Amino acid sequence: MLPTYKHEPFTDFTIEENKKAFEVALEYVEGQLGKSYDLVVGGERISTEQKITSYNPANKEEIIGIVSKANKDIAEQAVNAAYETFESWRKTSPEERANILVRAAAIVRRRKHEFSAYLVKEAGKPWKEADADTAEAIDFMEYYARQMITIKDGKPVNSRKGEHNRYFYTPMGVTVVISPWNFAFAIMAGTTVAPIVTGNTVLLKPASTTPVVAAKFVEVLEEAGLPKGVVNFIPGSGAEVGDYLVDHPKTALITFTGSREVGTRLYERAAVVHPGQNHLKRVIVEMGGKDTVVVDKDADLDLAAESIVVSAFGFSGQKCSAGSRAVIHEDVYDEVLTKVVKLTKNLTVGDPTSNNNYMGPVIDEASFKKIMGYIEIGKEEGRLVAGGTGDASKGYFIQPTVFADLDPQARIMQEEIFGPVVALSKAKNFDQAIEIANNTEYGLTGAVITKNREHIEKAKRDFHVGNLYFNRNCTGAIVGYHPFGGFKMSGTDSKAGGPDYLVLHMQAKTVSEMY
Ligand code: NAP
Repeated sequence: MLPTYKHEPFTDFTIEENKKAFEVALEYVEGQLGKSYDLVVGGERISTEQKITSYNPANKEEIIGIVSKANKDIAEQAVNAAYETFESWRKTSPEERANILVRAAAIVRRRKHEFSAYLVKEAGKPWKEADADTAEAIDFMEYYARQMITIKDGKPVNSRKGEHNRYFYTPMGVTVVISPWNFAFAIMAGTTVAPIVTGNTVLLKPASTTPVVAAKFVEVLEEAGLPKGVVNFIPGSGAEVGDYLVDHPKTALITFTGSREVGTRLYERAAVVHPGQNHLKRVIVEMGGKDTVVVDKDADLDLAAESIVVSAFGFSGQKCSAGSRAVIHEDVYDEVLTKVVKLTKNLTVGDPTSNNNYMGPVIDEASFKKIMGYIEIGKEEGRLVAGGTGDASKGYFIQPTVFADLDPQARIMQEEIFGPVVALSKAKNFDQAIEIANNTEYGLTGAVITKNREHIEKAKRDFHVGNLYFNRNCTGAIVGYHPFGGFKMSGTDSKAGGPDYLVLHMQAKTVSEMY
């Protein structure tokens, strides 16, 4: 019996011993930089001529690793390997599958700082954010292992006299996993192990900006005893390999986390039935957000300012849950704005290898340009009150940026920027604040800062987001505690890290036997 699930504790870096241990891990990872990583198909390592080079976003010159790049031929081999392996893997007992996840979690836990150090280097995560990313990866494995045990026998159904009925879940088949770079470990690992533990085989295509941490994780799964062919590691271009896998007639399930643009396109493509395909594909698509912190007039205003700043600037605003806008009651607007600006101006930006920096870089040049473009739009649409500058000479650094006095329909109030930019808007009353909070096409997370019980109840009912928080920031969902997924154009609301997630990777079967 596995002990009850509890989330992995976060590391306290104010303790000297922990700080030292992390520095040792960073030094170790620095010694590993520039190595080459192969594809893994049917357990065989494949080196290709075409490569993906992964760079440190804080230092453009530094190469994190060089990873072989799959093309359509290799993707085809991988589909066939996954298709064949499915026949044996689906018959492996749920307990055995769950045990592999627990063993993999134990391996990662022993090498926790090493994985976090890779995230510092490859994704530009500050220590605290990297530590939380690794903890979440461990949590997904521990949580899904236990969930599998609870659902392995299905659910009770009625039986009449002379009849024995059963209702249980059976895996779907070849699963395409396409993951983003912003939780390069947690989301990549979580969306990989969920199909595995439920008996599916996987084609893992990680984001091209963060393939090294994924390659490291595949090594862990092998060490934990995962049979060959269950996970096939095929980094490659989203447009080339991604489309090929999504369209493939043998693909049964697609689980994607990323932008609205790619997610909706993929959702549409997956609906097409191709020659040779004898099933409908299932799709789990988790996409972007334009998440709001609402501040009521009856609120702790220090808490409000802190919640806005933490939600907006944690990991440089590169979280789908980032609070990239705040809607504040007009009676307290000026006071909250002053506090937000003060807190923002105290934030430090720089190389995240140093734990003194609150914010590191943004992920790459394209992101840098896109965010700086939105800052220009913000200058037209609102009043710049903090930040507004960037420097891409060594890495992609952008100062935390606050815009005030936005019209609720302004572009920076509506579009996902995915960078350290927050837009503030004024509401006449609480009803209007909730109306504004609901006025985007997204519905992922939200927070309300209020002491008013009636308003809490109203927000519970009317603030239409998948993850709603009161009197705290709107980021930082924890596996098993805050199942995560959004409404509207934020996705299919799969609620990763929640009790209903694994079932999405299976189909229910009813068996009726007469005796
Ligand atoms: P992205 O550009 O959509 O990329 C996500 C993944 O899709 C990458 O592996 C990418 O590969 C791949 N891809 C790109 N084009 C593709 C295509 N035509 N067909 C198939 N796959 C394709 O998103 P991102 O920039 O990595 O991540 C940021 C976005 O993810 C934000 O919008 C954020 O809100 C969202 N997100 C949502 C959640 C959630 O739970 N709702 C969590 C995290 C992030 P390449 O890297 O090779 O292009």
